[in-house]
Order: sequence, then C-alpha cells, then structure tokens
Amino acid sequence: MTSYSFRRAFKLASFLLLIAPSSAAFCQPLKPAPDNDPTGYFQQPYRIADHVHLLRQEAGFHVEVIGNVTVVEQTDGLVLIDAGGSPGAGRRVVELVHGISAKPVKAIVITHWHGDHHFGLSEVMKEWPHAMVIATADAQADMNIRGLPAQTDAAFDATQQAIFDRLRKGFEDQSHAAQNEADRVRYAADAHEEQLYSEDFRGISIRYANVTFTDRMSLLDDVAPIEIMYLGKTHTDGDAIVWLPRQKVIATGDAVVSPVPFWRGAYPVEWVPVLEKIKTFGFTTLIPGHGLPQTNTSYLDTLIAALRDVNTQVAAFAAKGLSLQETQARVDFSSQGKAFAGTDPQFIEQMKSNWSPVVACSYAEATHVPIIQGKPCAPVK
Ligand SMILES: [Zn+2]
Repeated sequence: MTSYSFRRAFKLASFLLLIAPSSAAFCQPLKPAPDNDPTGYFQQPYRIADHVHLLRQEAGFHVEVIGNVTVVEQTDGLVLIDAGGSPGAGRRVVELVHGISAKPVKAIVITHWHGDHHFGLSEVMKEWPHAMVIATADAQADMNIRGLPAQTDAAFDATQQAIFDRLRKGFEDQSHAAQNEADRVRYAADAHEEQLYSEDFRGISIRYANVTFTDRMSLLDDVAPIEIMYLGKTHTDGDAIVWLPRQKVIATGDAVVSPVPFWRGAYPVEWVPVLEKIKTFGFTTLIPGHGLPQTNTSYLDTLIAALRDVNTQVAAFAAKGLSLQETQARVDFSSQGKAFAGTDPQFIEQMKSNWSPVVACSYAEATHVPIIQGKPCAPVK
C-alpha cells in the first residue's frame, strides 16, 4: 500500500483485522507493548520459526499501517524482509532487531515500492550502512514515486506535517461529533495514531535498492537459506516473494494482505497464477505484507476464488462491450463481502468500497490497457 488515498482506503482493511480468524501461535509478542501506544501502532517482535522473527503491528484497526518486517538469522548476519514505513518505524526496527540477535543486518529485501514497506530504510541504513538492499528492477524504478527528498528537508517535512495535522484534526472532529461511545473512542484512537505517525514521518528521506534482480536470487546459508523470487505481477508490477525452504516460511509482501486484500493499482488477472504458485511451495507459515501469519492455504484459496470471480464477471461484461462504468455498476460483490467481512451488512458495504478499484484494474487487463503504477486503473480516453 502507498500514498494517502491508499492508506485511507486501508483503514477498512486494518479495521477488519478485528474480526479475522487468527493463529494463536503468532499473537503473543516477545516483549510488552510500550505504555505510550494504546492503539497497537508500534511494531512488536514475534517468533515465527527457528531463525525467523516477525515485527508487526498489533492485529486490529490501524489508521496508519506499517508493513510487516521479517527478520531471518543466517550464520553470518541477518536478512530483513522490508524495513518499516517511516523513519520512526525504521528506528524501532533497529531496536527490535538488536533485541533478537547481536548479528549485523547484511541484507534487506524490499518486497515492493510502496512506502509503508521501505520508508524506514534511511534509519536502518544508518545502523547497517553496508547492507545489501535488494528489490526487483521494477520495484526499484518506482521506489520514489512519492517524491521524497534525498536528504532530510525541513520544507518537505513541514508540508507533510500540515497534511497529518489536517487528518488528525478530522479524526478529532469525528470523535467529538460521534453519536455513540464506540465511535467516539474509535475516532479518538485514530487521531492518536495519526499523531504517532506524524512524529514517525519527521526527517524522512529516500533510500534505494543497491542490488536488483528480475527473476530470482539466492542468499545461501546452512541454517536459513533464502530464495528471493519474482513470480509475476500481483499487488504491484514488481513484487518480490521470499521463500525459506528450510523453515518452510514464505513472505509474500502485499501479494497477500489479511484479513482483506488491497487491490488498487494491482493486476487482478495476473495475480491469480502467482497465488497458485505460492500454494505449491508447501509452506507451514505464510507471512503476509500486513496482518497475521497464515498456517494453511485457506486464506489464499479465498483470495484466489474472489479474484477469479471478479475477473470472470469483468471479462464477460467487457466482452459484451460494456464500459468500465457500466461494468462497475454490474459486478456483484456480495460473495466477496461475505468471504472477507462475514455477514455484517456494514462490513459488506465497506468491502464494496474497498473492492471497487479491482474492477477497474481487472477491466484494464481484460481490455489490454496498461496499468500505471501509482495511478488508478482507468480506461483509455
Ligand atoms: Zn503495504
């Protein structure tokens, strides 16, 4: 996920974590949450398998999301998968990694170009300046679509802080205007988390990958060998999938996000065979880009079925010559709403708003219109 509108949209996704089925094995952090974090915004460390840890936000609603960071302990150093979504998140990655192992970070794999997965790089690289930073060539090309400065820039910071202040004020206003206690508390928590994020974002600057690949590369090791692969377009045009064959752990980046997917600017048609390939690895744990680890393929199956359903509907409408708008009006979301959001009509309604962009992208693929990263999918004018 990336950018403001994208993060706003993900509010729903994060909120739905509340109702997601979870795996108890991954729910207890290795250290207590900080006192100044009632929202669960700050990442906490969890053990996943021998030599594998996960740094993630508490499952639950987050108005500002931070991508999951996986820590793999190889014999001669650590490998991170993603680096946190802001300088503040990156500083916490550094601190938490020191709590897991005394070894240095030797490599960081960036799963895709969205900032919630690599805007912490500047701080991580301060601590381990010689680390390899690995991404697909396509991800590398888009890492600074948002236009971050090369070095800390007070004027850029001021512009960003003004945006965060407006967002925080909006949540405070919603809290004050709430008609019931639950909404009042929820919007107040949103405002608090927005404040935490604005503090995290101060002093941001961009860092890039220094090693790129197009197909696959290996980080060999006796105890925790790593295979980094590009399996096809999914959430973006350059998603890296990381496989640990010894531990049978697969880290997917945002090719899998639970408990609800994030589809904007994505490739819903090309996505399906990649998810099918991921199933064939025989993983015991799947670490998604956000949300709780999965210990079986049931969530993958749900994602695949939902994508196939949308793609089939969209292709049929497109083949009949219907416009994107006509197609968007006709695609039936009811089964997807139930699959991801249960039977609550409000959640189903919200799911519709989260799913609508996937129709545009599926339509683009069905009609052979290029999808441009960082832009909404749209028909040719
Ligand atoms: Zn993300």
